[in-house]
Formats: sequence, structure tokens, C-alpha cells
Amino acid sequence: MSRKKNNGYGWIQVLRFIVQLSILAAVVFTIFHTKHISKWMLPTVLLLGVFFCGWVCPLGAAQDWAAWLGKKLRLPRLRVPQGLQQYLQLSRYVFYFLLLTYAFSFELLKGPHHFGAILRGTFYTAGGIFVLGMVVLALFTDRPFCNYLCTGGARMGLLSVLRIFGIRRNTEACGGCGQCTRKCPMNIDVATTDFVRHPNCIGCLQCVSTCPKKCLRYGIMPAPQSKKAPKKS
Ligand code: SF4
Ligand code: SF4
Ligand code: SF4
Repeated sequence: MSRKKNNGYGWIQVLRFIVQLSILAAVVFTIFHTKHISKWMLPTVLLLGVFFCGWVCPLGAAQDWAAWLGKKLRLPRLRVPQGLQQYLQLSRYVFYFLLLTYAFSFELLKGPHHFGAILRGTFYTAGGIFVLGMVVLALFTDRPFCNYLCTGGARMGLLSVLRIFGIRRNTEACGGCGQCTRKCPMNIDVATTDFVRHPNCIGCLQCVSTCPKKCLRYGIMPAPQSKKAPKKS
């Protein structure tokens, strides 16, 4: 079996793993609280995109590591076809809307019998079990919680459309092999996009690390008008 050619950017993923592990350790040992992160969240999202999801979020990291384990164990992997993905990925926003509705209802339910507190406790317990299930599911498919359910990711993703820096594809050098698309954990069709301005992009740079022709670069983005590359004949 032939070994995959390294394009020299493999170190990015090693660095990402070290950052993810360090953040997880810091959170576990409560060196810092996530509220410290939220202070610089908005400016970084607008400047760099949603690097938080690709490099910092412990739940994102847990899904990455589960995916790694699933591949090592040679478990079957599910990849949602692009045609279906474009609709399924909207579920994050539906859940965001439902969550806002829940929060509003919770305010209404707060009353003398503290029914709201009981409801909230049930919600958190069920949510914890569900999230754990999502990490298990990540053994078989890339980042299921991030792709389809995370309301925090949805909120940041919408803001990130205005980002100043992002991934550009050199369409002249691109061989159209599609490895970048297949490697993307958020199922973004990088191979046909000139500038990745997709709200689901988590800035993991796996596409950059995998491109055999080194034609993906992280740099200043043009004005926010998504442009599709012409199809190669
Ligand atoms: S989408 Fe949500 S769970 Fe996934 S990395 Fe981002 S914040 Fe974390
Ligand atoms: S487009 Fe690239 S950086 Fe963005 S999520 Fe996909 S692989 Fe990661
Ligand atoms: S991996 Fe590189 S060469 Fe292959 S389609 Fe993607 S950008 Fe083009």
C-alpha cells in the first residue's frame, strides 16, 4: 500500500492537537474559566473565523479524537453526501431558534413552584447524556454535534462570514483531486470554492495540511461575495 505524501504542513495538525490538549487540561484543572475565552471571542471570529471550534473547544476536540480512534479501529465511516449536507447543516440554526424559544418559555415558567428550575435540571442532565452520545457517534462520522446541533457554533459561524482572514484556493495550481473536501470534518466542498467563507468552517486547517499541491493558503479574504471556481474540464 502506498504511503500518503506529506505536503510539509502536517505540523499544523500536530500543533492543533497540542493546543486542544492544553486547553482541555486547563479547563479540567480550572486554570481558566470559559468566560475568559468569551471576552475575545467576537473580535477573533470577525478577524480570523471560528478558530475557537477548531483549536480550543474541548467538545470539538473530543469529537476529533473520537474520529481519530474510529479510523484507527477501522470502524465504518459515514459521510453525508454534499447534496444532503447543504440542507442538514441548517439544523444548527433550527436548534438555535428552538433554544431561544426554550429560554423564553423558561422565563415565563419561573414562578412560585420553581417548575422552571426542575425543567432546567432535567434539560441539563438529558443534554449531558446526549452530548456524550454525540462523542461516541463521532467514532463513525466527523463532528456530528458541530455539524448539525451546536447552537454556539451556529452563532459564531454566522458572524464568521465577515472574517478578514480565511482560506484561499489557488485555482491555477489546483489539480481537482478533491482531497481537501474529503478531509474537511465539516463537509465543506473546498475543492470547488475559491475562498472558504462557509459559516461551518472551524479553522482546523485540515484542508491546508492535506493538499498535495500546496494550493490552499490562509490569508486576507476578498470582499464577502462567495465565488465558485469554474469546473475543470
Ligand atoms: S461547533 Fe460547538 S461543540 Fe463544535 S467546536 Fe464549535 S462550539 Fe464546540
Ligand atoms: S474548510 Fe478547511 S479549515 Fe474549514 S473546516 Fe474544512 S478542513 Fe477545516
Ligand atoms: S486538495 Fe489541493 S489540489 Fe486537491 S482539490 Fe483540494 S485544493 Fe485542489
